[in-house]
Amino acid sequence: MWRLAGVVVGVYAAVCILSDLGAGISDHPVGGVLLITTYLIPGLLVAARARRDDPAWAFLSAGMIAYGAGNLYWFLRIRDMNPEPLATWADALWLAFYPACAAALALLLRRRLPRLGTTAWLDGLIAATAVAALVSLPLLAAVEPAPHSSTLGVVVNAAYPLSDIAVTGCLLGVWALCGWRADRVLGLLIAGMGLFAAADAVSMILLWQGVEMPRTLDLLWIAGLFLLAMAVRQPSGRRETGPPNIWLSTAVPAGLAFLSLGLLIFAALSERSVTTVTSLLAATAVTAAIIRMIASVRTAEQLGAARRMARTDELTGLANRRHFIESLDRELATTGGPLAVAFFDLDRFKEVNDSFGHDVGDSLLRLVGARLRDAVRDPVLLARLGGDEFALLMPGMGRDDAAAVVNRLLSTLRKPFLLPEVDLHVDASVGIAVHPDDGADRSTLLRRADVAMYAAKHGHGGPVFATGLDDHARARLTTLEELRAGLDRDELVLHYQPKVTVGPERRVVGVEALVRWQHPVRGLVYPDAFLGTAESADLMGRITGAVLDLACRQSRAWHDQGLAVPVAVNLTVSNLRDPAFPDQVAALLERYRLPASALELEVTESVLMTDADNALKRLGTLRDMGVRLAVDDYGTGYSSLGYLQVLPADDLKLDRAFVSRCGTDPRSAAIVHSTVQLAHSLGMRIVAEGVEDDEILDRLREYGCDYAQGYGIARPQNAAWLAAHAPAPVTAAPAHR
Ligand code: C2E
Ligand code: CA
Ligand code: CA
Repeated sequence: MWRLAGVVVGVYAAVCILSDLGAGISDHPVGGVLLITTYLIPGLLVAARARRDDPAWAFLSAGMIAYGAGNLYWFLRIRDMNPEPLATWADALWLAFYPACAAALALLLRRRLPRLGTTAWLDGLIAATAVAALVSLPLLAAVEPAPHSSTLGVVVNAAYPLSDIAVTGCLLGVWALCGWRADRVLGLLIAGMGLFAAADAVSMILLWQGVEMPRTLDLLWIAGLFLLAMAVRQPSGRRETGPPNIWLSTAVPAGLAFLSLGLLIFAALSERSVTTVTSLLAATAVTAAIIRMIASVRTAEQLGAARRMARTDELTGLANRRHFIESLDRELATTGGPLAVAFFDLDRFKEVNDSFGHDVGDSLLRLVGARLRDAVRDPVLLARLGGDEFALLMPGMGRDDAAAVVNRLLSTLRKPFLLPEVDLHVDASVGIAVHPDDGADRSTLLRRADVAMYAAKHGHGGPVFATGLDDHARARLTTLEELRAGLDRDELVLHYQPKVTVGPERRVVGVEALVRWQHPVRGLVYPDAFLGTAESADLMGRITGAVLDLACRQSRAWHDQGLAVPVAVNLTVSNLRDPAFPDQVAALLERYRLPASALELEVTESVLMTDADNALKRLGTLRDMGVRLAVDDYGTGYSSLGYLQVLPADDLKLDRAFVSRCGTDPRSAAIVHSTVQLAHSLGMRIVAEGVEDDEILDRLREYGCDYAQGYGIARPQNAAWLAAHAPAPVTAAPAHR
């Protein structure tokens, strides 16, 4: 396409040059066809490139095609008139190019500078009118309109260069706003419009002086159109390579406004006539500059207020997280010397909120903030990071100084807070990290301080230094941090292990959901590696919540495929300590439109070791809802028949320690056999865990066991497996773990 266009333009250029040399070939019909096609090609090229989602290029191509059509009309109707009239319909088509071009530019610039404010548009106006005024001064003053020209003629012909100048001026203004960043699209547009302006100016002067126009002048317009078309070929998309150059974007409009002002003064003082158009343009530029100045001052005021607000914590009036981070960054960048950061987390603040309400909680935070502020001295910066977390930035302080500051604050904090409603005693866990020992950069320092704070929470009082943490504790705390983030990023996945009937058909009667953590670096992490840590850090509520949600969602999918297999989810002690847990389960069942029988919950006897009454109450509620319950790992805990009697369970899962040995060890075999009978006599069904081969399965059938689960039947695996194997009999045991 472009190559063909190049050939056509080349031929036309030759025709123009030859005809100016007196060959007279441009009057030949072929010359006319060439003229018209060369003018139309760039517009068509743009139209071909314009994508539907981009109205800017559509406008530009419409304008360029209108321009080409103007030439067609001129060639067919006007060319032979003598003298050529100064204003015709061809001018209407040519001038239509400018509004279309302006619309295209507005759309294009909007995308480039998505939030172009009032000042930006004012800058555009200043640049456009000032440049136009400056250029119009010599242009309009020097030229005496030709004797046969009418007012309409003068206006129409002056409209070309002035429009060119206005558009070029706008482009320059916007380029200044972009910080004069190298931008090919803008550069090509400015070059194209610049050529247009030059050609229009020359043609206007020639026309007014009655001199015949050389054909080669056409080449300037055509080159301009091609430059515009090339802008469309540039890769689209906004490029933001650093902040705009503030200095230039202020200096350029200011300079232009000064020049305009000079022009006005010159107009007032000088005897020479400065045309009305020039004075009006200059006056517009100066007015726009004054408005811009007022707008800038107001914006600066608002910015100042917003910045102050954005750096203060609303509740306590202390510095907020942003302020803290900015100060830390500044310290690290400028001094590079020793520096300590400390994280304070109030102990049991949640209890205060839960028992006395949020108003009391907020009052307490305000008092804590005020007391801490009174106790810190320059250069220490105190900030509230959010919730019940405060932080200290201690420039120039090493380990000992930091410990002294923190201990002093802790002791003021321990004096009771007298609220109207209640007197409260407050303590805090504090973690301290020291630069450069604990980390050279901001994120390492903050992470270490945070880890140390968690260690303090689970320690025995007093601040904890990041440096003092041993590798094991650090690894544990890293796991915790990552697990928290992993929960936010939905990194937990479930594998499902089927439970089958012990008969030869091995019918799938349910699946157990087993959690895995899809760690971004460590890969698939098994529950043994993180559940213990999670339980001690109070994360089991969130984990079980996530697992239940995944399990219910999967169960819904299976139900939709006609697979109504109950899914079992494992609970821990802390789940049953949570009074809201049964409601949470009910809400999930409702959300996924599942019958309660679709869910089974597995608990070990250890749930009854502490606070048995409440645990039993919650299990009772769940069972009344219709959720099935299973006693997990039976035989490993402090099994007491008493517990078994009171636990409202449907299934008893006999631990694999007995099952796996029942083929070889007569004592294990006896335990399995008698437990089957015990379960049956209590009205429970029995599930043998850890079935690793067929021989054991035969034994279990002999003993009257109901169901079996184990690697010998199927390993835990992703959900797709069940759809392929159930309700058909299970045979193969594909390797997975
Ligand atoms: P569990 O509840 O006793 O789950 C059965 C565990 O035994 C699973 O290990 C399973 O892969 C493994 N297993 C199954 N068949 C065999 C077999 O034939 N031989 C052997 N050697 N092992 C077998 P996994 O998935 O590593 O889970 C370990 C434990 O982690 C579970 O023991 C359970 O206590 C806990 N757990 C797993 N997922 C969750 C969960 O979502 N929530 C809670 N609270 N605990 C979970
Ligand atoms: Ca289990
Ligand atoms: Ca188990």
